[in-house]
Amino acid sequence: MKAVAAKHNVTLLAEQIREFAPEAAAVFDASTARQLGQLLPTGCRTRILYGAEGYNTAASWESAELTLTAMVGAAGLLPTLAAIDSGKTVALANKETLVMAGSVVTARAAARGVVILPVDSEHSAIFQCLQGQRREDAAQILLTASGGPFHLRAREEFAAITPAEALRHPNWSMGAKITIDSATLMNKGLEVIEAKWLFGIPQDRIRVVVHPQSIIHSMVAFRDSSVIAQLGVPDMKAAIAYALSYPERLALGQPLPTFSSDTHLTFSEPDLVKFPCLDLAYEACRRGGTLPAVLNAANEIAVNAFLQERTAFTAIPLIVRGTMEAHVPVSDPGLEDILAADRWARKKASELTSSGGR
Ligand code: MG
Repeated sequence: MKAVAAKHNVTLLAEQIREFAPEAAAVFDASTARQLGQLLPTGCRTRILYGAEGYNTAASWESAELTLTAMVGAAGLLPTLAAIDSGKTVALANKETLVMAGSVVTARAAARGVVILPVDSEHSAIFQCLQGQRREDAAQILLTASGGPFHLRAREEFAAITPAEALRHPNWSMGAKITIDSATLMNKGLEVIEAKWLFGIPQDRIRVVVHPQSIIHSMVAFRDSSVIAQLGVPDMKAAIAYALSYPERLALGQPLPTFSSDTHLTFSEPDLVKFPCLDLAYEACRRGGTLPAVLNAANEIAVNAFLQERTAFTAIPLIVRGTMEAHVPVSDPGLEDILAADRWARKKASELTSSGGR
């Protein structure tokens, strides 16, 4: 490992620096950098960087071959672009990068001949299903969704949902933001946009299938109506490892899914009335331009407000919709247009949050 980065968790970062002795470590700001420095042994040769410049430097660190970008939300965009511009292979765990700026990111990657390897489990599954296949033979992507913790809950009860309940995901152990996105199904909407850019497949050929057991991580249907699925236990280790070791596979010691008489794999259509965030993401994907960046920014503000108990679970789609409706999208946007739309949407969504989404 050549360079590492974190936001504020200096305790864990210091542990990683002691274990892997990277050449550089980047953190959020100068005071976090000072705290990190105090935790490192004297004589530690890891260079400490901070701020936006620090993250970009770490992401494009000269001696590195591959950069794994796993920041939360829009914060991942510029470091990922820095990695691409410096010609690193990118293992992408930060889906918001493609949601916000898919056209810019994929164009820059193509220009540099950079390969983007998906880390998101569904996209890793799709990528695996496509190995050895001709892209033009893929007719449809079947993106599976667990449905989240409220899949079976009545819509009338949604207003009372607390952050603690929403943070208890039935299958996957993930960070707070993505767990709330899973509960609203916004995560699946962001993944549709991510899949469109990663695989160059239009939205009308990406179908979301609710599969509560999370054993099938996604599927690809081919033009001969043959469907290839990737299965595994729901654990991010396999998807992360596949991106890091591609095209080889590592012995991870993970169990296989159980294939017994009490294994039931079930499927259903997503409920767009109960989960309007998915529909909003479809709309942003369809209309394109700066609208997906606006969807993403408004969602980040709304989710954050919900986590801090400043707004209701049911206000999340209202805030996102209100922000999207107020936006005049720029078509075929450059990076500056996208960053400006992101800033505008954060401000607008914060105003809407104070008024309960209306
Ligand atoms: Mg995923």
